[in-house]
Amino acid sequence: MLGLMQDWPLLCHRIIDHAARIHAGREVVTRSVEGPIHRTNYAEIRGRALKLAQRLDRQGIRLGDRVATLAWNTWRHLEAWYGIMGIGAVCHTVNPRLFPDQIAWIINHATDRIVMTDITFVPILEKIAGRLPSVERYVVLTDGAHMPRTSLKNAVAYEDWIAEADGDFAWKTFDENTAAAMCYTSGTTGDPKGVVYSHRSNVLHSMIVNNADALGAGSKDTLLPVVPLFHANSWGTAFSAPSMGTRLVMPGARLDGASVYELLSGEKVTFAAGVPTVWLMLLQHMETDNLKLPDLKVVICGGSAMPRSIIKAFDDMGIEVRHAWGMTEMSPRGTVGALQGAFSHLKGDARLDRLQMQGYAPFMVEMKLTDDAGNELPWDGKTPGRLKVRGPAISAAYYRVDDDILDEEGFFDTGDVATLDSYGYLRITDRSKDVIKSGGEWISSIDLENLAVGHPKVAEAAVIGLPHPKWGERPLLIVQVKPGESVTREEMLDFMDGKIAKWWMPDDVAFVDSIPHTATGKILKAALREQFKG
Ligand code: AMP
Repeated sequence: MLGLMQDWPLLCHRIIDHAARIHAGREVVTRSVEGPIHRTNYAEIRGRALKLAQRLDRQGIRLGDRVATLAWNTWRHLEAWYGIMGIGAVCHTVNPRLFPDQIAWIINHATDRIVMTDITFVPILEKIAGRLPSVERYVVLTDGAHMPRTSLKNAVAYEDWIAEADGDFAWKTFDENTAAAMCYTSGTTGDPKGVVYSHRSNVLHSMIVNNADALGAGSKDTLLPVVPLFHANSWGTAFSAPSMGTRLVMPGARLDGASVYELLSGEKVTFAAGVPTVWLMLLQHMETDNLKLPDLKVVICGGSAMPRSIIKAFDDMGIEVRHAWGMTEMSPRGTVGALQGAFSHLKGDARLDRLQMQGYAPFMVEMKLTDDAGNELPWDGKTPGRLKVRGPAISAAYYRVDDDILDEEGFFDTGDVATLDSYGYLRITDRSKDVIKSGGEWISSIDLENLAVGHPKVAEAAVIGLPHPKWGERPLLIVQVKPGESVTREEMLDFMDGKIAKWWMPDDVAFVDSIPHTATGKILKAALREQFKG
């Protein structure tokens, strides 16, 4: 017997329809790429997204065609998302921080037909445009007055382009499993891999994000997604905020501490989401002038492990810190570290210990831990294993790659090594390829890095395994000190002594001017291994 309920496909544009109907006047505020603060609302965003959809349709963009964006978080970029998806085309967010060669590779692999770009990235595109045969037109996300002179093919200012449409247009309808968006993961080795989100997965993922213990921002809240729209599906914020009527503040191109503070404070932001580097810059800025953020309630931090010092700084200000873990392949939400009832009374170090874990899985994310042979490991908070995940917003395959990426039970191997405890709290100890194996036992590079950055003079730290004749591998600590400071090897090792098992102590400490990062802000360990080999 089947249920007798309506068949209502879960389509992304239904979210902006809902926002425009129920939360029409709710503001979307942007620090525009051109400079001034710009204000619009969900009803206007929907109207203009429809014009874009109509213009794309007139251009001959059809179901399944890819349209790329290289853009900061702005209202125009948000309109592009809904306009592209609303006709069943695929919104391909490209990370402009990648090397130009990688950007070219990705656009060619996706065979994007149109590229929508901020003024900022026009010079990058001009350098590679000759190698992008699939691109028919470049749309620059600005108005006629700010349109740069450019050699890009059929370049047009977005405002002029959508002005050619009257907006008398209806979204297309199609199966909810139709592709809505794609995003390439910037693997540190091998070619980037295309993750393809469906309308259904995006809508369900926004429900995961809206969970009170996940992001959980409501219609009374104001959200500042510092996380870019081009990072891992914007962490779901582009769907979750309009679905809830949450007021949005978009930071544009300026993500430094002072600029983020100005928006958080001036726009009375209550929820904010971003990577640890962003919060580090914000806290440094606030510390210098002893600034406060009385309106900010919740900070979500993920993308890489959140240092304890950042957690403590927010916690001391009475701001709830939620450490989140996820990945592009998971849309990206995996876990969020809100305190469960059993832990809400915790104080001091015990509280920080719990907050420093990566949190637990919300409904619709299933997890298991296995050894290398695929045998399940216990959720005892101690035994590290390969972390595998399953759910309706998790990848089943990569774009144009034939490899089977799921195990026989349909779980995807995240490539992370972690422990889970009986409450489901996750602790990421490593990437499987970064793990250090000493005498057959695993040493967590993340734990060592977290400890090292706790030293007041250290700006950033990375730990890699170096081959060792007796132990297989031993840890090397690589340190970048804060500007104007100096630390010795002995000071570093003394600082760590007693806080970790003796056999975890790094064999040596190296000092570098700067630690290399990937385009998504993660430490580029492959480069460090290369630099320190031998
Ligand atoms: P990406 O697909 O670029 O978002 O990268 C996903 C990877 O980032 C994960 O597989 C983890 O290795 C790492 N990652 C994300 N969030 C965290 C976190 N909170 N703590 C530690 N590692 C994280």
